[in-house]
Amino acid sequence: MQETEKISNPSVVERARKVLPGGVNSPVRAFTAVGTEPISLVRGSGSRVWDADGREYIDFLASWGPLILGHSHPAVLEETKKALENGLTFGLTNPYEPLIGEAVVSMVPSAQKVRFVNSGTEATMSAVRLARGITGRKLIVKFEGCYHGHYDSLLVSAGSGVATFGIPGTPGIPEDIARLTLVLPYNDGEAVEEAFFRYGEEIACVILEPVAGNMGVVLPERGFLEKIRELTQSYGSLLIFDEVITGFRLSEGGAQEVFGVIPDITCLGKILGGGMPVGAYAGPDEVMSEVAPVGKVYQAGTLSGNPVAMACGFKTLQILRESKPYGELENKGKRLEEGLKEITGERGIPATVNRLGSMLTLFFTDEKVRDFETAKSSDTKLFSKFFKALLERGILIPPSQFEAWFVSTAHSDEDIDTALEKVRSALKSL
Ligand SMILES: *Cc1c(COP(=O)(O)O)cnc(C)c1O
Repeated sequence: MQETEKISNPSVVERARKVLPGGVNSPVRAFTAVGTEPISLVRGSGSRVWDADGREYIDFLASWGPLILGHSHPAVLEETKKALENGLTFGLTNPYEPLIGEAVVSMVPSAQKVRFVNSGTEATMSAVRLARGITGRKLIVKFEGCYHGHYDSLLVSAGSGVATFGIPGTPGIPEDIARLTLVLPYNDGEAVEEAFFRYGEEIACVILEPVAGNMGVVLPERGFLEKIRELTQSYGSLLIFDEVITGFRLSEGGAQEVFGVIPDITCLGKILGGGMPVGAYAGPDEVMSEVAPVGKVYQAGTLSGNPVAMACGFKTLQILRESKPYGELENKGKRLEEGLKEITGERGIPATVNRLGSMLTLFFTDEKVRDFETAKSSDTKLFSKFFKALLERGILIPPSQFEAWFVSTAHSDEDIDTALEKVRSALKSL
């Protein structure tokens, strides 16, 4: 960036549109879902971000989840800079890799060994390959409304009817690939049972977000995770928890620790990198020893385990382990949830707030949101107006109804109360 150039939201967006498809490197950043011009962020500190016009926001987007300690945490930046000064990449194992590996193994219940990759997408893609490699089976089961990155086999929509084969979620995915994925409704244990009854011997794995964040926050109902665990076990399929959002967010050990259901493979990302591009898949020795070079299932990465990224992630995990912020995050999340319920209640706006710990979604519906179908009952037109009204008032939430808001340790009670006042004023203005 030329320092002499005066940047602004429109100038960045306009230049970006000339050279990047839609002006973005990830579609949701185009703000299409909320029908408004996107902003460009240039700086973040604690609970705040600043856009290219110099406007300040209280940030509940949190870069889509990684920033559990808020923006520019001093100790995280310091560790990252320290690593940076020794060089950017070596392409051989560096001392940060065992350090962060040990942290993951001691924090995540199912993890005895961990392989680092560069994104959540790579983690889920590699986990599915590993499951297929171990079982020698082709079919995978996923749930409608769960997002696992943009890997072909996981970017698949539901066909019609229960336990039918999937259809491509986008042009570019061959039907032959999509057909190997069964897409079931979330929280529907009977559908899982039926899928196993029909195809159990062919199912390599079931992959799910143990708490969904990508249809908005949806909690697993009592017995759902347990039933999937039982079925996968009895049919010799592997259970993959995609904890890219929930890992290190719901507790040190993620959703598996909170619900006491232990998967065979865990996918991690987001918080794991502390803001740098990092993903990982982890599991017991027995499972992970099938990965090359010990085992036969190939997976590699030129920049995997990059020292700067590992340092940033390591420091983030270390702070989480030492400071144990989960009680505090629960209290802040609860404060936000209760405020949102009170304000929407006052104004008689149909609303459902789903929350676990520091992840939360406000749906504009009276229905109990328990799967993608009920999530879609939310009034997305109202959400778009709400998003814009909040943005104008200096509050940044994810620019789509079907996403999670994130509270970080950097949010003070005051920040949350300020945000709630703005929510009140935003809803009043609509
Ligand atoms: C963000 C996300 C991914 C994909 O991670 P990327 O780093 O964007 O590739 C996968 N699974 C879940 C649950 C996610 O939220």
